[in-house]
Amino acid sequence: MCGIVGYIGQRRAYDILIQGLHRLEYRGYDSSGVAIINEEGSLNIYKSKGKVEALEHYAENKDLSGNIGIAHTRWATHGEPNDINAHPHCSESGRIAMVHNGTIENYSVLKEALSNKGYTFVSQTDTEVAVQLIEYIMQTNNCSAFEAVKEATKRIVGAYAIAVVDRQNPNTIIAARQSSPLVIGVGEDEYFIASDATPIIEYTNKVVYLNDGEIAVINRGEELKV
Ligand code: GLU
Repeated sequence: MCGIVGYIGQRRAYDILIQGLHRLEYRGYDSSGVAIINEEGSLNIYKSKGKVEALEHYAENKDLSGNIGIAHTRWATHGEPNDINAHPHCSESGRIAMVHNGTIENYSVLKEALSNKGYTFVSQTDTEVAVQLIEYIMQTNNCSAFEAVKEATKRIVGAYAIAVVDRQNPNTIIAARQSSPLVIGVGEDEYFIASDATPIIEYTNKVVYLNDGEIAVINRGEELKV
């Protein structure tokens, strides 16, 4: 089992995400990574095979600013454990980043359909197929990341917990689950996301457990919408 962490609020997201990844290490993993949107709207993704320490070492001296981000410890199911297959994965245009726990059973059918539309893939993962599908839906339906995730979950068969950020909307994280756990911690003007409550309890005791089929829209400074 692997892990998801997310943060949106006023603090430096990187610190909370790394601390959260350490808290989830007990679940087992082979690689890890973070995606953070900085104040200028750049989406910075750092990932590394091996321990979270390797990720921290890799990220040293890089731009770690920003107060919204998602992070992941991976247990490879589709593609070998390496830096490229590590999460977060990015959409073709670089606009959407996503972390995913679980497996997407119909990923090869979806991948072929997206390839036929001109999408290319850099990793061997099922996850990259899902993030490309979300971007494809956003572009063809001209809709928000939430609407695209909602539509994508109708087309995806499998087990997943996901967290998604959109570079063009640095005030929102979308989270969804089907057969893989996901918990949201509600703080003062901040939200925490994690695969279990372990990374969250040091910040808040208000937690919301997502149910199967639910999608959460986590907007900065607004009430949680599920
Ligand atoms: N199936 C995805 C992959 O192989 C996610 C694995 C996981 O749950 O960590 O990258």
